[in-house]
Amino acid sequence: MVKKCVYCSVGLDEERVVDVCDKCGIGVWGVKMFQAIQDNMNNAKKVGDLYQGSVTEGQGNTDFSGRII
Ligand SMILES: [Zn+2]
Repeated sequence: MVKKCVYCSVGLDEERVVDVCDKCGIGVWGVKMFQAIQDNMNNAKKVGDLYQGSVTEGQGNTDFSGRII
C-alpha cells in the first residue's frame, strides 16, 4: 500500500497523516491552514492509536460485563 498525493499522485510516506503532498497542500489550503490541518490529523492519529490500544486490552478484561455484575 503506497500512499499517493490525491492531487498530483506523487508518492508519500506511509506515516503521513494527510494524503496530500506539501506542495499541493500549501497550494490548496495555504501554509498556515495546511499546517493546522496536519496538526489536527496528527492529534487525531494519536487519539486513535490510544483508543485502539484500550480496545485490544478491553477484549481480554471483559470490563463491560464486570460493570453489570
Ligand atoms: Zn501533490
